[in-house]
Amino acid sequence: MDVSALDGLQTVLLIEDNPGDARLIREMLLEEPASPFHLDCADRLTRGLESLAKGDVALVLLDLSLPDSQGLETFAKVYAHSPKIPIIVLTGNDDEALALSAVKSGAQDYLVKGKTDKQLLVRAMQYSIERKRYQEELERQANYDGLTGLPNRHLLNDRLKQAVFAQRNPRSISVVFIDLDHFKVINDSLGHNAGDEVLQHVAERLRLAVRDGDTVARLGGDEFVLILADQTKEDVIFRAMNRIIGKVSEPLTIGSREFNITCSAGISVHPQDGTDVETLLQNADAAMYRAKAHGRNNFQFYTSEMNALANERLSLEHSLRRALERKELLLYYQPRVNLATGVIDGVEALLRWQHPEHGLILPGRFIALAEETGLIVPIGEWVLRTACSQNLAWQKAGLPAVAVSVNLSARQFWGGGLARMVGAALTETGSNPVHLELELTESMVMHDAETVIATLRELKDLGVQLSVDDFGTGYSSLSYLKRLPVDALKIDGAFVRDIDAGGDGEGDSGILAKAIISLGHSLRLKVVAEGAETGKQVDFLREQRCDEVQGYYFGRPMPAEEFASMLKSGTGIPQPGCPPSD
Ligand code: C2E
Ligand code: MG
Ligand code: MG
Repeated sequence: MDVSALDGLQTVLLIEDNPGDARLIREMLLEEPASPFHLDCADRLTRGLESLAKGDVALVLLDLSLPDSQGLETFAKVYAHSPKIPIIVLTGNDDEALALSAVKSGAQDYLVKGKTDKQLLVRAMQYSIERKRYQEELERQANYDGLTGLPNRHLLNDRLKQAVFAQRNPRSISVVFIDLDHFKVINDSLGHNAGDEVLQHVAERLRLAVRDGDTVARLGGDEFVLILADQTKEDVIFRAMNRIIGKVSEPLTIGSREFNITCSAGISVHPQDGTDVETLLQNADAAMYRAKAHGRNNFQFYTSEMNALANERLSLEHSLRRALERKELLLYYQPRVNLATGVIDGVEALLRWQHPEHGLILPGRFIALAEETGLIVPIGEWVLRTACSQNLAWQKAGLPAVAVSVNLSARQFWGGGLARMVGAALTETGSNPVHLELELTESMVMHDAETVIATLRELKDLGVQLSVDDFGTGYSSLSYLKRLPVDALKIDGAFVRDIDAGGDGEGDSGILAKAIISLGHSLRLKVVAEGAETGKQVDFLREQRCDEVQGYYFGRPMPAEEFASMLKSGTGIPQPGCPPSD
């Protein structure tokens, strides 16, 4: 608010055409020696507005009937001209209703001419100024973020609405959703004060990076939204975004430490990506998630596919929650063949989802979702029990005993109570633990050695076999691997495919598979190769004394009955050089 510094006095602008009334007010103020006000007068509206335009006015005393304006319209014009300046309406005896309407439209107070004394006048003026100040503060708090001073979600919505619904010449705008990368780490490790400071710096950088007329708002947390006005050409936005993201990621010094903060952003463009505020924000948000998935520190334009993906994910999650009770999950079985004897001595249980609309879904499409939602825990337990029961049923049917292996997810491994769950499944299905093998991935057992080893020991104490799946894709150190109580390594399919790469087995091809086999053997572990598809790969693996092989070459994952007949006949296992007929 502009406050006149004239001898510490506040300027009051009196707009009044009646010289008698004007004199009366002047005298009242002069009579009151303690009055902190200095009076300026205007005898018509146009002159009053001119004085207001000069600034400095702390309060307006306004007669509503002037030579150039009458009634409520007089108030409306002054208010529209200077919405932040408090106004007291002066009215005649018979006009109180009108004065009240002015108060309802935003005037701070009214005074009835002839019924006003100097005390009342001064008090009304002081009160109006304070009241207006307070209203302004409330409005600021309702519309601006306290930490950064940026518009908050509320004001952002207002501005977006205005931009979207602009009557004439609907303005083209882009909405940018920005989220800082790994902000939680800063907050958690350096404390909230440092986090707040980062947010303030980022807010300032964003404000400097956009043009006049653009809006930078903070939604809360580490989320910001930009409204870029008049920018809908992709190449223009592209350059602007590069500049903005570059600006945010400049090194930042807080205390004595230097940080590199980066952000991810998603952009939706009006009107093609949405014609209302919610859709524009939602789609910019979806694009931002895509930017995160692309490794952060980048931006993505919204595409309708993103929505399709988000929707697909949602409906998949919805139906996955019901898949268990609706008995839509089932297991396929893939044989593991002993290379020395040519006999099937194991089988891996692989999860499938018979979706009522989408048909048979492979785990690649829903395991991650099951892990994120925690559904993997009940599903994993179901897999274990089903695989154990099935294996027992094969044995009871007189088929040769094989070990069934079951994949465990990290969530099951770290959730606690794993050994208890496995023990219960074995007891309740009446299975012999020697016929159960649990597969853990290399990345699962990589961290926190003591906990991992303790859990693995508990499992070993049950009498089951343990193997490290997808071996070679993580970064286990040899000395660590040596401490793990596991029985087998499964070479990841990628290394097996490599065997064919060089053409004649010379050079680099197969060199990693070969190294892993000898590494596993030196640690006295069984080595299983996954994903063998060709006779050449199988020959190579046999030469390298790999113990077992699993892969399409010997059989794809198949329903239980099919596996049973394969196990029964012992046939269907092609010998090297005779590719399978599938
Ligand atoms: P995994 O445990 O490494 O399983 C091997 C995957 O390789 C299977 O894919 C299998 O069908 C595929 N495969 C086998 N032989 C060949 C081959 O010769 N060529 C090629 N290209 N692929 C081959 P699937 O069944 O799609 O399963 C993918 C992954 O899903 C599994 O990888 C496993 O990590 C996970 N998974 C499967 N079932 C379960 C489960 O019950 N629980 C958990 N937590 N994860 C599971
Ligand atoms: Mg596996
Ligand atoms: Mg694997």
